[in-house]
Amino acid sequence: MKYSITILIMFLFVFSTSYANHGEIIKDTRSNEEWARILTTDQYEILRNDGTEPSYSSPLNDEKRQGVFACAACGLALFDSNTKYDSKTGWPSFWQPIKGHIETKTDWKLFYPRTEYHCARCGSHQGHIFEDGPPEHGGKRYCNNGLALNFIPEHEKKKER
Ligand SMILES: [Zn+2]
Repeated sequence: MKYSITILIMFLFVFSTSYANHGEIIKDTRSNEEWARILTTDQYEILRNDGTEPSYSSPLNDEKRQGVFACAACGLALFDSNTKYDSKTGWPSFWQPIKGHIETKTDWKLFYPRTEYHCARCGSHQGHIFEDGPPEHGGKRYCNNGLALNFIPEHEKKKER
């Protein structure tokens, strides 16, 4: 009896750790009415209405500390500061997102197609992907709205754990 309980506990332990490491994102399905209560008007326009902030309007353009850039709506970490670079476009720019944390769709709002990307958890719009990124890192530019992101400095990340 004791033996079978030990086996059961071991099984549960292995099962729970492998489940936790699976990393699947559970969707945040809050309605636009709920987001409107949480977000500022400007944030809502970008995140939920695919808006774009004016270039050079975000203080995150000049953010150079170590840390992560998280979705301003649901808080999912989308970019590591190690992948941020100065694209001289006036929008916070990255050459690579955190794997699996963004999804893309084709945007036909202008007269040519662009690749839109959004948070994989809550679906909030972040920006567009362009092909003029740094060639040494694959050539992609993730052009992000600063208002759609919250920066979490490295030391605060550690405090949270
Ligand atoms: Zn999100």
